[in-house]
Amino acid sequence: MALHAAALAGVLARPRHWRWAAGAVVLDQALLTGAGMLPRSRWLGPNLSRLEDPGRAVALTFDDGPDPEVTPRVLDMLDEAGMRASFFCIGARARAQAALVGEIARRGHTVENHSMNHLYRFAALGPRALAREVMTAQAILADCTGAPPVWFRAPMGLRSPLLQPVLESAGLRLASWSRRALDGVSGDQGAAVRRLTRGLAAGDVLLMHDGNCARDREGRPVVLSAMPPLLLRLRQSGLLGRALPRAA
Ligand SMILES: [Zn+2]
Repeated sequence: MALHAAALAGVLARPRHWRWAAGAVVLDQALLTGAGMLPRSRWLGPNLSRLEDPGRAVALTFDDGPDPEVTPRVLDMLDEAGMRASFFCIGARARAQAALVGEIARRGHTVENHSMNHLYRFAALGPRALAREVMTAQAILADCTGAPPVWFRAPMGLRSPLLQPVLESAGLRLASWSRRALDGVSGDQGAAVRRLTRGLAAGDVLLMHDGNCARDREGRPVVLSAMPPLLLRLRQSGLLGRALPRAA
């Protein structure tokens, strides 16, 4: 804003130099847009992509659910392995599957905010529409579990500079990831496991999908065929899967 004001003042004072002012504004916009297109960048505000003080833990996170077919089976696998996770739920899906969202929390996991409608144009929304996408989901998810989410993950990880003030007023912090399975786009479960485990270390934040997941060759949601080898690998490495921390 300050740069835009300075550019305008510059143009008013020296109209001949308008190209410099316009160039500065365009460059500023390009930098802000570029920062928003990098899911793990911190240029637009705080952004968690690794755990601090992880001990022997990695964070397991699942996006785009809840899904009535996939989510309950993910919950069973986590129970069996004695591990916990954070579920970044889409508000509209949570409204349709409120009991399932409650079940996620009841079984010891955390439910976090992944916007109301997971719009592809999320990063291009104006301030009011953006606030609506965040706040409506926040209210629905708090209703389902009895505790409001503390983390927000932007749809596709893309965001604009307008997001940070909305998150602050909702008491939310931005979370991204350090490794992702790409199980929303690729049906190759071997590749998904490799993406998550090659060089895996304590503190990593793993991103998988219990909603919108791709199917493997047998038609199974990739996350369900990728989880057993992933959980085995965690156990063999002495790593524990846990949710993102709730306290600041
Ligand atoms: Zn998503």
